[in-house]
Amino acid sequence: MGNWRDNIRQVVPYTPGEQPKRTNLIKLNTNENPYPPSKKVQETMDQITGWRLYPDPAASKLVHALAEYHGLNDDQVFVGVGSDDVLAMSFMTFFNSDKPILFPDITYSFYDVWADLFKIPYKTKALDEHFNIKSEDYKAPNGGIIFPNPNAPTGVLVDLDFIEDILKANQDVIVIVDEAYIDFGGVSAKPLLKKYENLLVVQTYSKSRSLAGLRIGYAMGNSELIKALNDVKYSFNSYTMNQPAIAIGAAVLEDEEYFRETTEKIIHTREWFKNEMSELGFSFEDSKSNFLFVTHKSAKAKDIFEAAKEKDIFVRYFDKPRIDNYLRITIGTDEEMKQFLNFVRAFLGEE
Ligand code: PMP
Repeated sequence: MGNWRDNIRQVVPYTPGEQPKRTNLIKLNTNENPYPPSKKVQETMDQITGWRLYPDPAASKLVHALAEYHGLNDDQVFVGVGSDDVLAMSFMTFFNSDKPILFPDITYSFYDVWADLFKIPYKTKALDEHFNIKSEDYKAPNGGIIFPNPNAPTGVLVDLDFIEDILKANQDVIVIVDEAYIDFGGVSAKPLLKKYENLLVVQTYSKSRSLAGLRIGYAMGNSELIKALNDVKYSFNSYTMNQPAIAIGAAVLEDEEYFRETTEKIIHTREWFKNEMSELGFSFEDSKSNFLFVTHKSAKAKDIFEAAKEKDIFVRYFDKPRIDNYLRITIGTDEEMKQFLNFVRAFLGEE
């Protein structure tokens, strides 16, 4: 028997939220958009030809559409298979120091997985008791910085002055702002790109554009950063973006009205849902995302999570230090949230 097992990379993978096979349930566990995507998706899909050929490796049509949409040059945009792909490429490309990269202790739980996978040293910095990022923590020597804004799973937003303060103190490393949830009431760090050449802003089609199933994410930054990302991408897989992703990703950007309408609906539902949840004895920090991160004054989060699942209502529970009595609840339609509230009322009544 050989020792081939010694040559296998050992990793503890990220655990994605459950994707149940059944339909007919209330799915509030992975921050998907409850509304269908723009009609442009089907219209564009019907026009796609040329399946026989490889897609454009540069995904130029999508890159150009995004650049135009965001008021940037084409060489300032990098696209990938969801922002997970863009972030993974960014970790590989930009975090190559012996000093640790920094990110919050409570944050997107893929960051430490990528850091381990790519053997990047990292340190986490504790959020304060209201789940705020403390900017002083990010003024220590480091090999790079990443945080989501709004943060996940807390939903807490920082403003541009806060981001600029971090950028000013960190001119020698790349600072990545992961804006997966920025379209639900936050202000993007995009304007800071003009001033800070070490800033990378990452966004996704998965939440605000209702296209988690298509897998499109992108990074915006100065052309040197984007070239570095492309060099790594072409060293890994030339054809990351498939034909539908390129064509549909470009087309939906034309439907700004629908984008605004659906994101506004979600924001409206979220604000109403916050009130209802407060009345039921839940507390939470203010969320500017499409989810609410809540804890109850008496009922245990895990018990609510399990009882909800019994009723085919899926929310997210993280069995992790500091947040193991919290639930992350995606904002669905008004009707879905009403059903969730009815469940909670019954659950609390039965306690
Ligand atoms: N960043 C954050 C903070 C997220 O919560 C998610 C969703 N899991 C992602 C990035 C990745 O999303 P996607 O790959 O669908 O763009």
